[in-house]
Amino acid sequence: MHPFESHIRNVHNFPKEGIIFKDITPLLQERFSEVVKAMSEGIEWNEIDYVVGIESRGFILGAAMAQLHGKGFMPMRKKGKLPPPVIAESYTLEYGTDTLEMIREEKQSRIVLVDDVLATGGTLTAAMNLCIKNKLEVKAMALLINLTFLNKFKEQGLPIYSVLNY
Ligand code: AMP
Repeated sequence: MHPFESHIRNVHNFPKEGIIFKDITPLLQERFSEVVKAMSEGIEWNEIDYVVGIESRGFILGAAMAQLHGKGFMPMRKKGKLPPPVIAESYTLEYGTDTLEMIREEKQSRIVLVDDVLATGGTLTAAMNLCIKNKLEVKAMALLINLTFLNKFKEQGLPIYSVLNY
């Protein structure tokens, strides 16, 4: 068992019936610097200009990774939080749709995209498409947890770096 696993709480039926929610709060509290280092492994940092963090746990992890490697940080937020000019990407949820936004970029850059959990991959796919629309080359995607039974990112050959795989 990975030493991080004892600090992750499995919360059954949250936020809704049938979901086992991976609560990383105790892990952030007890092992934050090790988590940030582990999530940074394997990434070619000399090929990266910025870290893009997905709201909101991606902010905590991504900002710390950016700081550790001397890179700038860019937030990707839920609709309506960022001031214009923004660029948006909508995606389908189980019920309805959701939208992610970033501040519109003028220049081309190479980024690493960061979030806490990769589940079905709906969020990360939309995040990746939004980056591409916004002239950002996604060199790597860093996750703390990949629920591999719910998505096919690895099999599709996408540049996924995850610390814990279920
Ligand atoms: P998905 O779009 O299905 O890949 O879901 C990804 C987003 O939902 C991430 O931003 C996670 O923070 C959150 N999420 C999805 N499933 C879980 C889970 N089982 N435990 C904790 N967070 C989750």
